Amino acid sequence: SMAHGGVSNSTSNKLDSKVLPNDSFARRKKILQQRKSLPIASVEKRLVEEVRKNDILIIVGETGSGKTTQLPQFLFHGGFCNDGKVIGITQPRRVAAVTVAKRVAEECGVELGQRVGYSIRFDDRTSGTTRIKYMTDGLLLREALLDPYLSRYSVIIVDEAHERTVHTDVLLGLLKKVQNARSKTVDDHSNADNKKASNGRLFDKENGVQRNSSFKQCQGRKFPSLKLIIMSASLDAQVFSEYFGGARAVHIQGRQFPVDILYTLYPEPDYMDAALITIFQIHLEEGPGDILVFLTGQEEIESVERLVQERLQQFPEASRKLITVPIFSSLPSEQQMRVFAPAASGFRKVILATNIAETSVTIPGIKYVIDPGFVKARTYDPVKGMESLIVVPISKAQALQRSGRAGREGPGKCFRLYPESEFEKLEDSTKPEIKRCNLSNVILQLKALGIDDIIGFDFLEKPSRASIIKSLEQLFLLGALTDDCKLSDPVGHQMARLPLDPIYSKSLIVASQFNCLEEMLITVAMLSVESTFYAPREKLEEVSVYGMLNVEQISVAWFFWYTLAELLVLQSVMDYECMQFVEVENLDWTACGMAMKCFASPDGDHLTLINVFRRSEEFLENRKMEISKEKNEKLLRKWCKENFINSRSLRHARDIHSQIRGHVEQMGLRISSCGDEILQFRRCLAASFFLNAALKQPEGTYRALASGQAVQIHPSSVLFRAKPECIIFNEMVQTNHKYIRNVTRIDYLWLTELAPQFYTMQN
Ligand code: ADP
Ligand code: MG
Repeated sequence: SMAHGGVSNSTSNKLDSKVLPNDSFARRKKILQQRKSLPIASVEKRLVEEVRKNDILIIVGETGSGKTTQLPQFLFHGGFCNDGKVIGITQPRRVAAVTVAKRVAEECGVELGQRVGYSIRFDDRTSGTTRIKYMTDGLLLREALLDPYLSRYSVIIVDEAHERTVHTDVLLGLLKKVQNARSKTVDDHSNADNKKASNGRLFDKENGVQRNSSFKQCQGRKFPSLKLIIMSASLDAQVFSEYFGGARAVHIQGRQFPVDILYTLYPEPDYMDAALITIFQIHLEEGPGDILVFLTGQEEIESVERLVQERLQQFPEASRKLITVPIFSSLPSEQQMRVFAPAASGFRKVILATNIAETSVTIPGIKYVIDPGFVKARTYDPVKGMESLIVVPISKAQALQRSGRAGREGPGKCFRLYPESEFEKLEDSTKPEIKRCNLSNVILQLKALGIDDIIGFDFLEKPSRASIIKSLEQLFLLGALTDDCKLSDPVGHQMARLPLDPIYSKSLIVASQFNCLEEMLITVAMLSVESTFYAPREKLEEVSVYGMLNVEQISVAWFFWYTLAELLVLQSVMDYECMQFVEVENLDWTACGMAMKCFASPDGDHLTLINVFRRSEEFLENRKMEISKEKNEKLLRKWCKENFINSRSLRHARDIHSQIRGHVEQMGLRISSCGDEILQFRRCLAASFFLNAALKQPEGTYRALASGQAVQIHPSSVLFRAKPECIIFNEMVQTNHKYIRNVTRIDYLWLTELAPQFYTMQN
């Protein structure tokens, strides 16, 4: 069957065969050898036996030991997919779900989407024949809305549980209930057939969304029990074991070679610059082996990528054998696999990764790790009800995981871009996300599942009461909950069905009433991606050389690079003096400024983003008849470059747009455009995002009305200089100031008119 699989793979999956050099017999043999040499391979029989004996099993094993790729295959061959049942494996990260599924499909010699597939938000590659299904933890939570018993799964593996994402934590609680309910259904069924109706409910549901879903079919049906496997890389199996009533935990012995840890002597003011220097130091002075650099997001990765390429040009031909490969979650999925392909002989590969490469994805060939010591994390202030993304120091546990990546295949080196004294100050471990995020989203989903008592829910670790209450309050203000805290009909149910943040889901519903759903769909899609405008950092360096920037500001953080780059670009549009400077010193800057000017809307960033999206649509529309899809993509990339737009982001936004559009069409919302009536759209923004309104203060800063916080408009906003009286915004980022991004001007009076549930009381 192996040989047969190999044939089908090479003929029917062009995408994969493009990434994977050739699908020859030799390659299959090599994969087989690789698999056999994984630490997990020697315990296959024992593991399958453990799963058979235990309904809940905790598996702990060093990253790279083969848990994620091998265990599902063991179970498949162990008969756990008989009767068409599915093995589901959840991942906290989209990239892991996608790349692992592709790898396993290849290992099995099948086409992706057949026996092995993945499903993540906005991208489903599964079919009726899928038996091993990789997915994000958030997606499985959503699936539970339609199939509360998760009836098609025989096994659910919660992978990377140590990451403790909010979705993983909630999922564990839910799975505990599902497992109980499933074993109960079996008993009830055999005991008393008459109790069917009442036992059809999984939880104490009052008014479920599944009124006409598979829910009815569940009533009284006999389910085999559900096997639950929790997998984790770190050694704190204890908390999971206790949570599941003393569940059995097994450890898989890993291999780890020694890793030399190097620290800097002094703190580095600019870790991206330090990373760049270190990359070249390794490249020029150290023996062969690939480099893995941990950065905090797409923007940083793309900047470093450009800088490496630029600097390479200054080297003699012989030293240029260095290639950069990015990996982050919104990278188009066919590009994600590039990190696994070995570099051409004589070349060294530099992988620029987000936290994804810490434990979720194991990349072969790495000998050097560069760890700046930061990660982008969510933080939530329950009193103010504000969630923001900030770059924070990692924990000791994370630093350890990162350095471990260098010692998988032989001795390695880890360059920590901070002094040892700083390492000592790091927290031991990362705080679970559920303690530092807005809970509206998960609460909405739990409510939709019929779990009404949120405070009483059996969380692995309870979020604070204050943050639960704040989130309930927000949901209530958005109209998702009734006075007695039940999901409202139809708004609450509709909101729960959309795979978006509640505030965005609500904005789509509001927009359908304001006749501008078309505009709002674009807005939500564009707001879902990072960095639409491409700010040329290397240009900025030139500017700083000219002494335009305050050196102190430059040294604060990477963030400022980006901010100031945008600031200058925007100033060049709006500030005559600056424009002159730019004209004199650097023609490109003016070009960039002009490019942005043609998208900028005086009303704010939302309309500016819509302009970008629509302009790209028009551009493609004009060429649609002429050429192929690939050519179109290429043209669009060129168009993006000319217009200083990040083409990866735009592409991602276009993807998301078509998916959400599908959802709202299914829901029967009316999709229409307000055309030139911009006022109508701005009123709709006010009605949707009233929780994020801010009022100008005499000194020119703003006060966020809901939280009372002092905030400033981010320099990347088109309204940075105009400073209108009253605005709504969508995002808050925090450095040494609290900045708000994606801002639109509104009329203060609209708030009391359109959101009286919130604003009459306040006045
Ligand atoms: P674990 O889950 O225990 O961390 P994995 O199952 O993810 O381990 O990885 C097992 C092995 O498979 C690792 O050596 C890894 O390098 C390799 N591997 C995983 N995905 C790919 C891929 N897409 N291409 C090549 N090798 C891969
Ligand atoms: Mg894994």
